[in-house]
Amino acid sequence: MALYGVVETGGTKMVCAIVAGPDDIRAEVRFPTTSPEENIPQIIAFLAKHHRKTPLTSIGIGSFGPIVLDKSLPNYGSVAPTTKPFWSNAPVVAPIKAALDIPVGFDLDVTTAALGELTWGAGKGLQHIVYYTIGTGIGAGVIVNGNPLPCMLHPEAGHQRLTRLSDDSFVGNCSFHQDCLEGLAAGPAIEKRWGVKANMLPADHIAWEFEAEYIAQALMNTVLFVSPQRIILGGGVMEQLHLFPMIWRKVLARLNGYINTPAILEHIGEYIVPPMLGNQAGMLGALVVAMRAAS
Ligand code: ADP
Ligand code: ZN
Repeated sequence: MALYGVVETGGTKMVCAIVAGPDDIRAEVRFPTTSPEENIPQIIAFLAKHHRKTPLTSIGIGSFGPIVLDKSLPNYGSVAPTTKPFWSNAPVVAPIKAALDIPVGFDLDVTTAALGELTWGAGKGLQHIVYYTIGTGIGAGVIVNGNPLPCMLHPEAGHQRLTRLSDDSFVGNCSFHQDCLEGLAAGPAIEKRWGVKANMLPADHIAWEFEAEYIAQALMNTVLFVSPQRIILGGGVMEQLHLFPMIWRKVLARLNGYINTPAILEHIGEYIVPPMLGNQAGMLGALVVAMRAAS
């Protein structure tokens, strides 16, 4: 049976695993995200140890962004310039490939999560989906025809501009834009606006009206620009499941009947949905990337 190495490089932690299939995790290790000088050798050490025991078929990596995905560039597979300390321009794929010499698939963490949901989760059976994560940051994985949207860099849907609510005096939490989705609606923005951790706000707090409004604006843009068959909303903030009916109502109200299809007008509850893979999405998505790299 084929064994795959999967790696999630996250903003706070790294997860590496040896996986034979979606329900068959053979080994797993986690360590805190520090610097590439420390983390990349840790990843290689784990993968190489298992590769020596039983050769791995390939490796799949889901990475925090921004990353370089253009295979024609010499720095393909590295982290792009970022405000995140230590990681700007850090090569990720090259040192892992050099150490193990097997195929290495690489994509953005939201894109791999989208691929995981497409293959085994809430997007199963579909071809075109968008997966948003609403957590410490906001990003979206866009899948078209079963594959990540081919593009120049990769989508940065978390930084789309929104219309600020007139009674929202919070300045915004993005250092590049005042009124972008991430700056207005990611977990840290909620916490700074209300002075309380997002998970401590009661379900009837006005904070969730704001949150649902901003997410609904972004989803309206998504429907109009990408016209996916389904939108999946994950990330820590979306653990507030009461947001879903609020978002459904607001998306319907904003679209105002313009997108005249039963999927939206009659079945919005099956159109904008929670993920099915939970905290496994990253790992399973990286497994899809590994399997695709092998074939
Ligand atoms: P990350 O984005 O760092 O990978 P998460 O998706 O868990 O991790 O996002 C963390 C953010 O989500 C934090 O800002 C946190 O306040 C918020 N968050 C986590 N759990 C919840 C919850 N149950 N309800 C509301 N917000 C939450
Ligand atoms: Zn921004």
